[in-house]
Amino acid sequence: EIAQEAEHKGWHLYIVGGAVRDLLLTRNYEKVLLQDIDLVVDGFHRSADVGAGVELASTIQKKYSNCRLSVHGEFQTAALLWHKDPEFGSLWLDIATSRTEFYPYPAANPEVEASSIRQDLYRRDFTINALAVRLTPPREGELLDFFGGLLDLKAKEVRVLHANSFIEDPTRIYRAVRFAVRLKFEIEPQTEAYIRYAIESGIYEKLRLKNHVAPALTTRLKAELKYILEANYWKPALQLLSELDALKCLHNQVSLDDKIWWQIRCASRWLKYLDPDNKIGHWLIRLEILISQINIKERKQLAQNLQLPKESLERIEIVNTLSSEIQENLKKYDKTSEKYKQLYRYKLPDLMLVAVNCNKKIRRIIWQYLTQWSKVESPLNGNDLKRMGYKPGPKYKMVLDRLLSLTLDGEIQSKEEAEIIVR
Ligand code: ATP
Repeated sequence: EIAQEAEHKGWHLYIVGGAVRDLLLTRNYEKVLLQDIDLVVDGFHRSADVGAGVELASTIQKKYSNCRLSVHGEFQTAALLWHKDPEFGSLWLDIATSRTEFYPYPAANPEVEASSIRQDLYRRDFTINALAVRLTPPREGELLDFFGGLLDLKAKEVRVLHANSFIEDPTRIYRAVRFAVRLKFEIEPQTEAYIRYAIESGIYEKLRLKNHVAPALTTRLKAELKYILEANYWKPALQLLSELDALKCLHNQVSLDDKIWWQIRCASRWLKYLDPDNKIGHWLIRLEILISQINIKERKQLAQNLQLPKESLERIEIVNTLSSEIQENLKKYDKTSEKYKQLYRYKLPDLMLVAVNCNKKIRRIIWQYLTQWSKVESPLNGNDLKRMGYKPGPKYKMVLDRLLSLTLDGEIQSKEEAEIIVR
């Protein structure tokens, strides 16, 4: 329908990017469930057509009441979102207007058309993402492959489109790693050399030091990091980023040495057990551990630039002092109830970060607290005290706390024993 609408207007419509790549990578087209489709419209002969993408999207939205339309940028891109369908999930359809010059004559001329979509594809990151399929006549269904993307898909290689690509946009390094690991591809050797060159040139560090890192760039870098750190392939991806020295794009003090690598894996194991529904955002804890190796002043700055949530900023700031503090305090006590008192005011993510920062003995205590002690309850509650004839008041808390301590220390085991002690 969108293609017909575009054709009717005299425009050309293409499906581009990830959807084409994923379709070509599969042998059974019927089984591909595309959830994110990028379309590009071009072939204009009137400057008024600059909003073509938006126009197409609004026409479609009028036909389907169950989708939402949003427009980004200067009328260039429109997105349609079909909400969660129980069977197919949700669908994003992005319709971009190709940023090309306007031609004084109808762009049905294939040469003009080709040069315009070619330009659009040339701005993309990798050859495998720079493929397009024409959806409008003439030759609808034809694959446009200007940069050898099909060969690279067959050779399972991530290849960049031009030498300066990574200097222009460091997020592409993270994207290269993401695609390589996710698709089980290799980063093509020349592309890897460009990545290493871009990092060694120190360009990112210079930008950071001059505070010239554009907010849009940091936002995209964070999005790519999040994508990687929350994917099920986060371990090989992080290792590959480290092998390429690409964690330096964040800050020159970020690396994945044995200690940090162990800390991240340990925290992830704990989180899998303690927060199976991923309410905390495990990717964020991994990132916090990475960032916490930077000196205190600069780590805060980086966390702010990355617009991490307030709790993350606070954690990153206090993690070292909190670790020494908790370590010192725990050493002073033998009784479980006393150790419990040292830990109960902290939340899981704080204790996680402290645990991976401390020695084995302290880590064990924190683990016991999180898995056992924090689940212990006082054998009596306020209602029980009331039933026993005690008047509600501030003493209730004292009594209940005391009962909890005695339970933690194994001195009372049942409700009856608790009642005897209270009486
Ligand atoms: P995924 O399946 O992971 O979503 P995708 O290829 O659809 O993969 P997107 O991040 O949705 O990835 O980007 C859509 C398209 O936009 C890409 O295929 C690529 O052509 C282009 N693109 C995205 N980010 C960049 C970038 N930093 N530089 C150049 N082109 C990019």
